[in-house]
Amino acid sequence: MFNTLRFATYASLLTLGGFASSASAAELKVVASFSIIADFAKNVGGDRVEISTLVGPDGDAHVYEPRPADAAALEGADVVLVNGLQFEGFMSRLIEASGTKASVVEVTKGIEPLKSAEEEHEAVEKTEAGHDHEEAGHDHGHEGHHHGEFDPHAWQSIHNAEIYVKNIADAFCEADKAGCATYTANSEAYIARLGKLETEVKAAIEAIPADKRTVITSHDAFGYFEHEYGLRFIAPEGISTEAEASAADVAKLIDQVKHDKASAIFLENITNPRLIEQISTETGIRIGGTLYSDALSGREGPASNYIDMFRYNVNTMQAAILGS
Ligand SMILES: [Zn+2]
Repeated sequence: MFNTLRFATYASLLTLGGFASSASAAELKVVASFSIIADFAKNVGGDRVEISTLVGPDGDAHVYEPRPADAAALEGADVVLVNGLQFEGFMSRLIEASGTKASVVEVTKGIEPLKSAEEEHEAVEKTEAGHDHEEAGHDHGHEGHHHGEFDPHAWQSIHNAEIYVKNIADAFCEADKAGCATYTANSEAYIARLGKLETEVKAAIEAIPADKRTVITSHDAFGYFEHEYGLRFIAPEGISTEAEASAADVAKLIDQVKHDKASAIFLENITNPRLIEQISTETGIRIGGTLYSDALSGREGPASNYIDMFRYNVNTMQAAILGS
């Protein structure tokens, strides 16, 4: 399936991406499932690691279709970093197909996962509907979905990002003992920067009046942000972008907005703007900009690393709410 021509294409992509020049110097070949984990890995690994990213800037890992090059990258990897919590639906099949011997590390290990709101909602519906409904195989139209019991977007809490970074440092130490002192020092320095970022974020949220803290995004990507920092997010789509919002979901959200008085509405960099544009038109709430939910921006964008992403999201929300 992965013929030599495809391997050649992969090699030239690496060259174009600027990875090949450092390949000989790197001690560890690392595959990161998506851009945010890749940024953490770069901060921990520095020059000792060569990183390939499967789902790149502005990419949507929920619905990602792997390419042959991805299997080739996995096959040659020493360490594979994944979010877990069923964020990367494509990953287990890809790992199996690649035959990789790399250690596969779930970087959310040790966080306190939040239950997916959708899951709680379904549990209530099932209780109300009783057993007959379930026996009839009624599945709320959710057949074929891969998202799970927990909200996977744990990186939207800076405290969790610190856990991601520690797990990455541990994984690198395990795979490259000679570099462990470097990985530990790099991760400590980066975690100190995250601590400063968190102080900044909390101050920015405190500056928003309590009655203006409800905002709308397109999917439920900000549950951990809400839990940690106290803004309230509502969205027509659930914790995965896999299922498009139905007309009923949108109507329900518009109805909810009339009661809850959302202060701002935002596009997301990974999703189609159409739905948010429609809700903006129907509610009269002006679009306050784009939030980076599940991916970084490209290098030239405003959110090309995690710290910039977080700062940009908070500044964008604060400006939209206070300006409204
Ligand atoms: Zn998401």
